[in-house]
Amino acid sequence: AKSDHRHSLQLFSAEMNRRAQERASLERALQQALSDRSLMLHYQPQVLSSSPGTLHGVEALARWNHPQWGMVPPSQFIPVAEDAGLIHELTLWLLDEACRQLAAWRAAGHDVPCVAVNLSGRSFHRPEFAQEISDALQRHGLRASDVLLEITESVMMDARPVTLQNIEALHHQGFKLSLDDFGTGYSSLSYLHRLPISELKLDMAFVQDLTTSATARALTVSVLSIAHSLGMVVVAEGVETIGQQQWLQTHGCPVMQGYLFGKPLPPDEIEAWLCAQAP
Ligand code: C2E
Ligand code: CA
Ligand code: CA
Ligand code: CA
Repeated sequence: AKSDHRHSLQLFSAEMNRRAQERASLERALQQALSDRSLMLHYQPQVLSSSPGTLHGVEALARWNHPQWGMVPPSQFIPVAEDAGLIHELTLWLLDEACRQLAAWRAAGHDVPCVAVNLSGRSFHRPEFAQEISDALQRHGLRASDVLLEITESVMMDARPVTLQNIEALHHQGFKLSLDDFGTGYSSLSYLHRLPISELKLDMAFVQDLTTSATARALTVSVLSIAHSLGMVVVAEGVETIGQQQWLQTHGCPVMQGYLFGKPLPPDEIEAWLCAQAP
């Protein structure tokens, strides 16, 4: 038994070693992708429940097509970027790109009300973050209301003064904050009224259980009711079926996002989507 134990320890450390190497090469490749500017954004439609051909906005989602590995999912490279200290550069670059794209769509006559970008909690530790965001908008002639900033509950729970200062500064500059993955984290309802949140994104875990779980329905009804009384918009994420759409519409959810309406698409396909919806 003793040698079994030693054997499994060796296997374990070989596995650890392999993972560390994998991570190191992912990190180097990501660094390279940042300097080549070879990441890109796809955009997913967010539609009005009352009129699913009308955009509420689009969410910008990072995409990395690596020359050898193919598509690396953001769930894999965003955490690496965070640990390696690359997330801030990545965020500012993608924000700039999203602003450039929105300005270009509008110049071409497309009616895109706003673009939502995902922010990492790490960036809020930089005292200059709020200013860097408004600089990006200014470069493209946009206003704060043109961009929706998606943050997660971990940002809300972060007690650092610098995080709160950035949130306050963004609020005063007129930015709207959207709380992503609502219901999955450390949800404490108390911060909803303490902090300037204007939108809740109901996590797809709830949406996908709507038709099978009474609990998911009950929770969704309360989220919709809380949001309504606090004057917040709810975006239901991951809507894939007509059954989910109908339930959400009947229960007063104002905005939906999901494969039923459109997958995250490259910019030219979003234009085609917009043309296809046009009356
Ligand atoms: P998220 O912000 O919650 O984004 C929603 C994810 O759900 C996206 O995955 C999207 O493709 C997927 N999705 C949308 N509709 C449906 C649907 O109907 N069914 C299903 N099954 N999935 C749907 P994606 O693009 O792989 O992104 C995963 C996560 O990576 C994002 O979750 C976000 O946390 C992170 N991420 C993506 N881009 C960025 C970025 O630019 N910056 C940061 N900080 N994080 C990002
Ligand atoms: Ca998001
Ligand atoms: Ca989400
Ligand atoms: Ca998520």
